[in-house]
Amino acid sequence: QAKAGGGGRVKFFESRMGDAVRDRYELEQELRQAIEAGELRLYLQTQIGPDKTPVGAEALVRWEHPRRGLVPPASFVPVAEGCNLVGVLDRWVLTEACRLLARLDAGGRPLRISVNISPQHFQEPDFVERVAEILRQTGADGSHLVLEVTEGLVIGNVDEVVARMLRLQDLGIRFSLDDFGTGYSSLSYLKRLPIHELKIDRGFIRDVTTDANDAALVDTILAVARLMELQVVAEGVETRAQADYLDTRYPMVHQGYLYARPQEANAWFSAFRG
Ligand code: C2E
Ligand code: MG
Ligand code: MG
Ligand code: MG
Repeated sequence: QAKAGGGGRVKFFESRMGDAVRDRYELEQELRQAIEAGELRLYLQTQIGPDKTPVGAEALVRWEHPRRGLVPPASFVPVAEGCNLVGVLDRWVLTEACRLLARLDAGGRPLRISVNISPQHFQEPDFVERVAEILRQTGADGSHLVLEVTEGLVIGNVDEVVARMLRLQDLGIRFSLDDFGTGYSSLSYLKRLPIHELKIDRGFIRDVTTDANDAALVDTILAVARLMELQVVAEGVETRAQADYLDTRYPMVHQGYLYARPQEANAWFSAFRG
C-alpha cells in the first residue's frame, strides 16, 4: 500500500509495484495448481540432421490455461524459476519426454529427445538421482536423451557442475549448450564442460544471410565447434536461404519453422510411427 501523505507520483508508483507483486503471486499459485491439475502439455519440434532426415526433437512445454488458452513457456518458465517450481515443471517435461522416448525405442525408431533444464533445477541437490530415477521408471534409454543447459549453469561451482554432468554421462546422457553466444561464460569454462553440442541462438540465425556481423559471429561459433569437435544445432531456421547458407558452412542439425513447428506430443508421435 502507498504511504499516506506521500506524493501522488510515489503513491501511483507504489500501488503499481503492489499490483506487479500480486500478479506474480497469483500466477505462482495458479501455476502450482496447473501442474497438479494436469494443464501442462508436451510439444515437440523435429530436428533435421545434415543428411536431411530427422534426428530427433526438442521437448517444449506449454500451459493449456482454462481461460487464457495455450500459454507459451516464456510467460511462465521465468515465474517458475523465481519461486522454486521449475524443478517440478522440468521433471514433468522430462518424465513425459522419457515416456515418449521409450515408446519410440520400442517402435524401432532410435531418435533423440532434447529436454531443457533450468540452471535452478540443475543446482538442486538431488538432481542427478532424480534424473536417474526418471530413466528407470520410464525405461527410456539414456543414450537417446539430451539435456539442454545454458551458460547460466556455470555461475555456480564449476567443479560441482562438471561432476554432475559426468555422473549423468555415465547413464548415456549427452549435453547441449542452448542459446550459445547470448550468455557471459568464457571459452575456458566451455572447455571444461563435458558437452557434445552447441545450439546457435535464433538471434544469430535470423539475419545470417544479410548481416555480415551475424555471419561472422556464426562463423566464430562454428570455428569453436570445429576446434572442440562439437555437434552444432542451428535454432530458428525459417527460410531456405538460411538453410542453404548454413549447409555451406558446417554439417549441422537444423531446427526451425522451415522444417516443422512445435507439435503436440501425440500428433508428433503418430507422424513418426509410420
Ligand atoms: P529454447 O530452448 O531456445 O527453444 C527454442 C524456441 O524457439 C522455442 O520457443 C521454439 O518454439 C522456438 N522456435 C523454434 N523454431 C523457430 C523458428 O523457426 N522461428 C521462431 N520465431 N521461433 C522458433 P518456445 O517453445 O516458446 O520456448 C521458449 C523457451 O522456453 C525455450 O527456448 C526454453 O528456454 C524455454 N523452455 C521451453 N520448454 C521448457 C522446459 O520444459 N523447461 C525449461 N526450463 N525451459 C523451457
Ligand atoms: Mg532449448
Ligand atoms: Mg535454444
Ligand atoms: Mg533460444
